[in-house]
Amino acid sequence: MLVADTERVTIAGAGMAGTLLSILLARRGLEIELFEQYPDPRGNDISAGQSVDLALGERAQHALLIAGLLEKVDAHCTAMRGRMIHDRSGRITVQPYGTTERDALHSVRRRHLQTCLLDEAEACENIRIRFHHQLRSIDWQSRRIKFVTHPGGDDSGHREHPFEVLIGADGAVSPVRRSMANAADIGASEVLLDTGYKLLSIPANEQGGPCMDPGGLHVWPRGGYMMIAFPHRDGSFSAKLFLPRSGDHKMIWGFGELDSWTRQRAFMEANFPDATPLMPELRQEFRDNPTGMMGTVRCRQWHLGGRGLLIGDAAHAIVPFHGQGVNAALEDCTTLVQILETGVKDWESVFRALQEQRKENTDAIADMSMDAFRTMRDSVRHRDFLLRKALERELERRHPERFVARYSLVMFHRIPYIEAYRRGKVQAKILDELLDGKDQLTEVDLEMAARLVGERLSLISD
Ligand SMILES: Cc1cc2nc3c(=O)[nH]c(=O)nc-3n(C[C@H](O)[C@H](O)[C@H](O)COP(=O)(O)OP(=O)(O)OC[C@H]3O[C@@H](n4cnc5c(N)ncnc54)[C@H](O)[C@@H]3O)c2cc1C
Repeated sequence: MLVADTERVTIAGAGMAGTLLSILLARRGLEIELFEQYPDPRGNDISAGQSVDLALGERAQHALLIAGLLEKVDAHCTAMRGRMIHDRSGRITVQPYGTTERDALHSVRRRHLQTCLLDEAEACENIRIRFHHQLRSIDWQSRRIKFVTHPGGDDSGHREHPFEVLIGADGAVSPVRRSMANAADIGASEVLLDTGYKLLSIPANEQGGPCMDPGGLHVWPRGGYMMIAFPHRDGSFSAKLFLPRSGDHKMIWGFGELDSWTRQRAFMEANFPDATPLMPELRQEFRDNPTGMMGTVRCRQWHLGGRGLLIGDAAHAIVPFHGQGVNAALEDCTTLVQILETGVKDWESVFRALQEQRKENTDAIADMSMDAFRTMRDSVRHRDFLLRKALERELERRHPERFVARYSLVMFHRIPYIEAYRRGKVQAKILDELLDGKDQLTEVDLEMAARLVGERLSLISD
């Protein structure tokens, strides 16, 4: 027996965290019931929200490795080795992510990742997946959940289901979190970003090849707004336009002002002149794709005793600019299983230990994701940012065991987020001191750099 209270676990949400966690728990002998509001995405049309593309870093890859799924997922991935920054004239500057082969992100369509996870979950005989079950309410006292099985249908689609332990892996909007917050003071907060996003696309060229270099993440930073594009194996790119949800009608345009094709086209041609001709579906995409919202969720408490737990975005949704939402969600799952392996005997202790280990880390990645938003939007094209990046790379090359850029620590390592955050602050101070009054890399005192790195940064171990 794994845990004393029960071996039956109910999970709401067959997204990234819910499906991976089901697999990992089922392999330890637990009986899993997995409920998902949508129909099976395999072979179905997907909503714009679900077609978001993801950058997988070391944390997600490690979780997939543990689940034995890395090779399968990798077959759908495209390696991105750096940022390709497009200025307004279409000139491109390449900024490598790091100095080694390991320093690459892996672009994958969310749908492919989800398919790999669901195929694996379906193959486990102790996982029962129920699609088209939308959780509506929870009675935590009697431990019963109410679902609507055909949303929008009549009463015959209502179902009640008992549970013993309920894990809410139901994403950023999380009905499980809202129900928990009604039942107890879990200190939940949701802060929406005033920037929204629109999914756009750049298809392959007539020969079936890519229209841009497929080896990196393309970024069009414009100060206050930006566009990014991820490459795919079929030669296409999926782009996201990030723009204030409503602008100031003067300097900054927002989605609210782009209310006609004439304005949309004029805006895109003025700001992204090299990309716009590569987007034949632009007009339909502006019309048909909803403007997505993003935000940060924090909860002081992730669990309701041993009855319920929040995991992934449900506990800690973040803005997507560090590309860490899935990475963090999957890391929650592997951490929970590690805790079970220590022999903890009841769910409440497991849940408490998970929160203790993860909360400060997910708070740290939430803050770093907001930093990444500001950096990508505003600074990646500035001269002092580029000088800083150049020095960062030089210090990484000279002191790889101590100095690794914070971005790389988050994306290409598995050291706890909080440690990456702390090391990042120390490193930022070293860079400030070394660059004080300097205009070029050749002016930096590298002996002083070696001394500061040796004195202030311990060896990295992950
Ligand atoms: C524009 C954008 C870009 C992103 N890019 C990246 C990236 O590059 N890298 C990265 O790591 N992360 C990225 N993310 C974040 C990532 O998508 C999320 O962090 C991740 O999907 C969280 O996984 P999850 O399993 O917690 O939630 P989800 O994947 O959202 O899964 C939640 C599941 O619960 C289901 N559900 C919801 N409500 C109910 C209900 N009432 N009843 C039953 N089921 C329900 C949903 O249908 C869904 O299947 C991005 C997010 C956005 C918005």
